[in-house]
Amino acid sequence: MMRDRMNTSVFDLRRSAIREFARLAKETPGCISLTLGEPDFDTPKPVIEQAKLSLDNHETHYIENNGLRELRESIAAYETKAHGFTCDQSQVIVTSGATEALFTALMGIINPGDEVIIPTPAFVLYEEIIKLCRGIPVHLDTSKSSFQICGKQLEGLITDRTKAIVLNTPNNPTGTVLDTESLEAVHQAALKNDLFVICDDVYRQLIYTDGYHSFTEFTDVRDRTILVQSFSKPYAMTGWRMGYLIADVQIKERLELIHQFSVVSTPAPFQKAAITALDFDPVELKETYVRRRAYMLKRLKDMGLDVPEPQGAFYMFPSIARFCMDSATFCRRMISEAGLAATPGFCFGSDDHIRLTYCYSDSQLKEGLDRLEKFIGMLHISDRG
Ligand code: PMP
Repeated sequence: MMRDRMNTSVFDLRRSAIREFARLAKETPGCISLTLGEPDFDTPKPVIEQAKLSLDNHETHYIENNGLRELRESIAAYETKAHGFTCDQSQVIVTSGATEALFTALMGIINPGDEVIIPTPAFVLYEEIIKLCRGIPVHLDTSKSSFQICGKQLEGLITDRTKAIVLNTPNNPTGTVLDTESLEAVHQAALKNDLFVICDDVYRQLIYTDGYHSFTEFTDVRDRTILVQSFSKPYAMTGWRMGYLIADVQIKERLELIHQFSVVSTPAPFQKAAITALDFDPVELKETYVRRRAYMLKRLKDMGLDVPEPQGAFYMFPSIARFCMDSATFCRRMISEAGLAATPGFCFGSDDHIRLTYCYSDSQLKEGLDRLEKFIGMLHISDRG
């Protein structure tokens, strides 16, 4: 059997249950889906026009592996100006979305048996990439500390095999922004134990409260900080597959070889379009999300659900603990009995929650939340019966 001769780590990989539940919703007639983290906006017109212009100008050949210098300079200028992360184009690799940036970063630092700490609930990608690199994912449960990182708990997980920690703020699936105590705890741990800190900040432009801080603000650990960014969320460009990573030059010079030998470069016609995207202020998207967030939060609270108030991204993560059901059963039943799809919390390492997404139209949100209310009402009645 040739299958038995494959790289054994591919057998540890799990298919994304997020996609599975989105598919289930699609196959169920009339089902409303609040599952996918995909903006329901179109890519800004000037970005599209620039891509067309690049095609018309025959900018369709091989380019620098790390991305056009002009784009890398724009990214470095943008990070410095918009986010105070002073950096230079020589530190930037333009990647195929944040997904490739995460893969390249983790592949570049993990030796077999190395441990990587993941504050959990977390986006599924980290664990699967770590396993593929023959590393060991170590989950730091944040559910008992309002999804913040407790310094003592973090210290307790560090061993002589700990290589890195992955931070995601605002977080997918909770929408939580890490507070300064959490960031300081990681800062101290990184200093003391020479840990890499991978900052998945893909939702940082979608923040609805004051007081956001990124780990990249710590200037004394720049040599071990790797920033991962994406054009997908703020500019509604999920299908363009454009993102980037920024690292210390010496680290980046090795990471770029992984990128070079696997991806070569992201598509040439999209490079200048990405520069145009950086000029776009996603204020309209944000205003819409602020409104939808307030609506969904009020509806969930009115239903009596325990839900952390998200400070960013476009997700809500209400608890379903009181329904005494695992999250997959809850979501399957909700699809078949109420015609509403959500993503079960187990996908993110938290089986007593579900994830709802509010990047859907107002009418879909209203109908979806009406159905959730009805479903919960039904569960209460059957509990009593
Ligand atoms: N990180 C997080 C936290 C995400 O939610 C996503 C996408 N859902 C990604 C990374 C990957 O984004 P991209 O489309 O840029 O690959």
